[in-house]
Amino acid sequence: MLLSKLFLPVTKNLPSDAKIKSHQLMLRAGMIKQSSAGIYSWLPLGLKIMKKIEQIVREEQNEIGAQELLMPTVQSADIWKESGRYNDYGEEMLRIKDRQGREMLYGPTNEELITDIFRTSIKSYKSLPQMLYHIQWKFRDEIRPRFGVMRCREFFMKDAYSFDIDDESAKNSYNKMFFSYLKTFKRLGLEAIPMAADTGPIGGDLSHEFIILAETGESKIYTDKKIFEIKLKNYSLNDTSLEKMIKDFSSVYAVTDDKFKKDEFDQKVSKENQMVTKGIEVGHIFYFGDKYSKPLNCFVDSKGGKKTAVKMGSYGIGVSRLVGAIIEAKYNNEIMKWPRSVSPFDVVIIPSFSKNNKENLTKSMKIYEDLKKQNIDVLLDDVDESMSQKFKKHDLIGIPYQIIVGSKSTSDKFEFKEINSESSFIDLKEIKSKLIS
Ligand code: ATP
Ligand code: MG
Repeated sequence: MLLSKLFLPVTKNLPSDAKIKSHQLMLRAGMIKQSSAGIYSWLPLGLKIMKKIEQIVREEQNEIGAQELLMPTVQSADIWKESGRYNDYGEEMLRIKDRQGREMLYGPTNEELITDIFRTSIKSYKSLPQMLYHIQWKFRDEIRPRFGVMRCREFFMKDAYSFDIDDESAKNSYNKMFFSYLKTFKRLGLEAIPMAADTGPIGGDLSHEFIILAETGESKIYTDKKIFEIKLKNYSLNDTSLEKMIKDFSSVYAVTDDKFKKDEFDQKVSKENQMVTKGIEVGHIFYFGDKYSKPLNCFVDSKGGKKTAVKMGSYGIGVSRLVGAIIEAKYNNEIMKWPRSVSPFDVVIIPSFSKNNKENLTKSMKIYEDLKKQNIDVLLDDVDESMSQKFKKHDLIGIPYQIIVGSKSTSDKFEFKEINSESSFIDLKEIKSKLIS
């Protein structure tokens, strides 16, 4: 892609409510544009990053055997009346009437709809367990939408649902999701801490939130520092290992605000290991048994022939919130560096040229074509600006690797730089191998 062709409305004017760095950066870099309170358009650069996050989330869901489907954003109120949540959900639910006067709503979550899909098609324990997910827009009429994509009214979420015949099997599904979440966040370059959480309006008795530590986060957390010693690489996707993983995490005190009790904290965690800080909730998983299957009449035949209410769990990841969360975690000293896995481009070529001397631009064009042939997603900064203006812009866009084609480069060696590191002069072959590795 040529930068001159990229739709990138970089701006310096920020609204006064853009208080946190991710919100500021996303507006300045032209990633999003607000359309109304808590509702955003995703512009090409922002969308490209969000799509990469979405794809990683998808791959890790598929990896544990979850299957993707797509449910609509607009739902009928009927099914919510059946579960009893139509009234309970309150003002956060956006309610709509269609031209026939039927009550509809914009889905804030999908427990009801998925249970309806399931109950009409699955009749026997033989078809269990099942895990289904979709990645779809949600709407919650948040009382105070703020912090850009962090707390929106319309946001993009992956929500998965598990269906099992009994508690034991359901906990196994829960453990798989837990593992999958840790892997997903790791691939996004994030360290997410699982915290025992309150189940809130979803209900049930087992729940974890996945939190990224950040001063600007809205969740207050209380944890034993020992939690950082538990490493994902020590576990794998088999039942015994997953049980051990949950046991290891559960043996360390780590809770969110709702579950916090000071006496318990002081009793279980030594003073020097106590950590009280803030974080961003990027995922939340729940096990709630038959809370929805019973009222919604979602029963299957068990082995002995008896009808049993299916045991369910639900599992959310805030895909659009993650774009902001990654910025909060990685933006430092006015410089953004996207993790390679979600970077909008693999590398940017920055030539130094002017109207009268385009030698470096021509050289860069050759490198550009060459890298494209290798399937490297490359951006060429062909805009006629000073090098300092260019560097400022790229500090904002945050592509992790730069090839600088200037006076110091020779016919076959170019300045190659990883953001926040020293640059080196290497040939194209070496550059390619670094980008492909
Ligand atoms: P929160 O406590 O932040 O309000 P929640 O507990 O209501 O979130 P869940 O129903 O667990 O959210 O949703 C799953 C995930 O969706 C959350 O972990 C979060 O990452 C994301 N999410 C929830 N609400 C919003 C929102 N208003 N804007 C952006 N992302 C959100
Ligand atoms: Mg939550």
